[in-house]
Amino acid sequence: MKPVALTQAPDDAAQRKAIAPVLCYPVQTLPRPDIDAYRAVRDGLTLVETVVVPARDAATFRVPAGGFFRIVSTEGPQVGDLNLFNQHDLSERFYTGKTRALNGTHLGVGDQLFTSFPTLRPMATITHDTLDWYGFDAFGGSVHDVIGTRCDPYTHNLLSDGGQYHHCCHSNLTRALSTATGLTPHQAEPHVHDVLNVFMCTGFTRDTGQYFMKASPVRPGDFLEFFAEIDLLGCLSACPGGDCSSEHSSDSARCYPLLVEIYTATQRPEGWVAPKVNGYDRCHGVAG
Ligand SMILES: [Zn+2]
Repeated sequence: MKPVALTQAPDDAAQRKAIAPVLCYPVQTLPRPDIDAYRAVRDGLTLVETVVVPARDAATFRVPAGGFFRIVSTEGPQVGDLNLFNQHDLSERFYTGKTRALNGTHLGVGDQLFTSFPTLRPMATITHDTLDWYGFDAFGGSVHDVIGTRCDPYTHNLLSDGGQYHHCCHSNLTRALSTATGLTPHQAEPHVHDVLNVFMCTGFTRDTGQYFMKASPVRPGDFLEFFAEIDLLGCLSACPGGDCSSEHSSDSARCYPLLVEIYTATQRPEGWVAPKVNGYDRCHGVAG
C-alpha cells in the first residue's frame, strides 16, 4: 500500500487540481496516414501464408513492406503479445512508449506503430479491427494496449517468492526469436521489447491508477489487421493468461492458439511512400 499523503494540501490545492490538462504532444502536426487510401487496396489482398502460434508459445513471421498481416482469433478468446522488428536490423524495433505518447493507451484503425530511436518512423499501420465497436467500457478498459509491457518470468519470480515459470510471453518471444535468427536465447533476449497487447482488455483503475485487465471480448473470427510500412519480422506470443480474465504466468488459464495471416496487395495505397528514417541530425548539440 502506498502511504497516505504526508504533506498538508496548500490553500490553493483545489485551484491547482482544477487546471485542465493539455495533450503532451501537438499531434495535429503528426503526419497521419490517409487511412481511406490504405483501406481502398484491401479488396485486392491475396493470402500467401499462414502461421499458427501455439497456445503458451510464440512464432515469428515476415511481411515485406507494402504487404498486410492479420492476427486472428480462431478457437477461443486469447490475447497475443506482439513484437515487431525491421527484418534487416533487429536494433530497429517497435517503441511502445512513443507510440503510446503519440496515439494513446490503446491502438485502433488509423494508428501507426513507431520504431525506436534513432529511426523513429512508422513501421506498421492498423487498417482493420473487428473489435473497434468496444471503445472504452465503464471501467475505463479498452483493447489493444501499449501500456502493459509483457508477462515475464522475472516479475513472476519477484511476486511469487521465487517462482520459476518458463512460458511467459517474454520467454516465448525469446525462444521464437532465437529460432528465427540463429541467435542463442541469451543473445536473443535483449531484443525482446514491450509489446502491443493484441485483443487484451486493460486500463488503469480510476481511484489508484493501477494497471488492470479483464476478460478479453475477442471471439473466434475476430482479427486485427496491419499494413507493413517497412520489411517486418514479427514475433507473436499466445499469452499463458488466455483471455486474461484471471491470471497469467501460470498454466491455469484456458489458452488457445492464434493465427497470423500474411497477404500481398495488388497495389500500394495511393500516395504512399516508404517511411524515411527520422530526420534529426543526431548531433545532440555537440559542435563539430
Ligand atoms: Zn503474456
